[in-house]
Amino acid sequence: MTGTTARIDRVDATAYTVPTDAPEADGTISWDSTTIVIATLRCDDYQGLGYTYTHAAAASLIAKPLSNVLNGADPMDIPQLWEAMRRSLRNIGCPGVGWMAMSAVDHALWDLKAKLLGVSVTTLLGCARERVPVYGSGGFTSYTIDQLQTQLAGYVEQGIARVKMKVGTHPDQDARRVFAAREAIGEHAPLMVDANGAYTRKQALTLADTFAECNVDWFEEPVSSDDLQGLALVRNHLRHMDVAAGEYGWDTWYFNRMLDAGAVDVLQIDGTRCGGFTGFMQAASVAQAHGIPISAHCAPHLHAHVCCAVPGLRHLEYFHDHARIESMFFDGLPQLRKGALVVDVDRAGLGLILKKQDIEEYRVAS
Ligand SMILES: [Mg+2]
Repeated sequence: MTGTTARIDRVDATAYTVPTDAPEADGTISWDSTTIVIATLRCDDYQGLGYTYTHAAAASLIAKPLSNVLNGADPMDIPQLWEAMRRSLRNIGCPGVGWMAMSAVDHALWDLKAKLLGVSVTTLLGCARERVPVYGSGGFTSYTIDQLQTQLAGYVEQGIARVKMKVGTHPDQDARRVFAAREAIGEHAPLMVDANGAYTRKQALTLADTFAECNVDWFEEPVSSDDLQGLALVRNHLRHMDVAAGEYGWDTWYFNRMLDAGAVDVLQIDGTRCGGFTGFMQAASVAQAHGIPISAHCAPHLHAHVCCAVPGLRHLEYFHDHARIESMFFDGLPQLRKGALVVDVDRAGLGLILKKQDIEEYRVAS
């Protein structure tokens, strides 16, 4: 223990489900809403706030058992609390939704600690860079060609040069859709594709040749991210296209297995799944030890803070659903400037203010 007098005196969690602005699908699932679970921790007059995107069940896991670990604890001792939360979830199902509940709490702990110290989370973590390059992401397989082109071209017009689209739902249509995307964004904007593990190994290799004709330079989850040999096989065949995966990674064991297998050129990390900023930094260290760059997956305005701090960062995914929800839910977000997110380090903690009145209609559990 640090011996400070600060103690967490209240723990709350609320889940909100927000309909998408159009039907959305990738190579393996479709969806019409997104659920955000927000954890809040109080310590005297200070409040820490963190979130994850998962099932509303995570809110009840924050209420119990995680609150049992947190109530009365010193919020400065994040490593100690992180280990205690992990142990408390062992017999419940860990990793999984419990790990995502813990991720929301970890973000809230960093927010609270930074506020108690009167600094931004970015300042508390320590800056490796002041701007976090983003890429525009969406391009759902449920979109018409017109919707696809409008969204991706819109990112480029906003100054986000690099964009990513989904593929894999109808492999026979993917070549046509990728050519249409290239036509919309122009000759020079980097184009990425994400199959969400939908292809077989042979499909992935065949389609990679077609994608290469459109100068696609990133092939995400060409096969299942659980098929490490398959990822490595595709990676070893592609000379001018990076293979990326890791967004479903939970812990350092997972990331180490993926990197030991030589499965990816770039490791994706999602702090809303892998234990918050604490888990993100652990995963980034594993990547650094393997000499592999990293890319942050989704939750852009949250990840912007930890992305300022870690080595080897290539970029952060500015995902359509999450960028939209974060703008609906919070004031004080990091600002998008010339294709990068910039944190205002004069704002304490994460700098976020929840727009409670505006979002009440979406509340589903607390
Ligand atoms: Mg993906």
